[in-house]
Amino acid sequence: MAISKKIVLKFPGSLVERPIVYRLIKDYDLEFSILKASIAPNEEGLLVLELKGERQNYKKGIEYLKSIGVEIQPLSQDVTRNESRCTDCGACVISCPTDAFEVDPKTREVKFISEKCIACELCIKICPPRAMELHF
Ligand code: SF4
Ligand code: SF4
Repeated sequence: MAISKKIVLKFPGSLVERPIVYRLIKDYDLEFSILKASIAPNEEGLLVLELKGERQNYKKGIEYLKSIGVEIQPLSQDVTRNESRCTDCGACVISCPTDAFEVDPKTREVKFISEKCIACELCIKICPPRAMELHF
């Protein structure tokens, strides 16, 4: 039976140059659409994919990715901001690979645009008052 899932792949800088997606097509007969791709400031790669294929091939493809050190999470993970904790310090703005934060030029308030978020979790580690939260 064919399945289709949206997933977030996080891979270390050492894997950025490797033809990972090509292997998924060639060796596991999977189809994919890249929804978003970026290289984070620490050179970690982020790829949001819709992956389609036969269930067995999908499982093998995911096992292959994990075996080479790629972290995988479903796109359904949700990141929110606890507004009462945010101090508008701006630390998250440069770290976000999808520009999900915007600084109001007049008030210097930092807005969180949740529609742009791919739940990479970078801001969660960076935010000093721990205002960014991950929900499963
Ligand atoms: S988790 Fe944070 S850094 Fe990552 S995309 Fe979402 S808002 Fe940006
Ligand atoms: S790093 Fe945290 S406290 Fe600072 S602007 Fe971003 S969400 Fe707000």
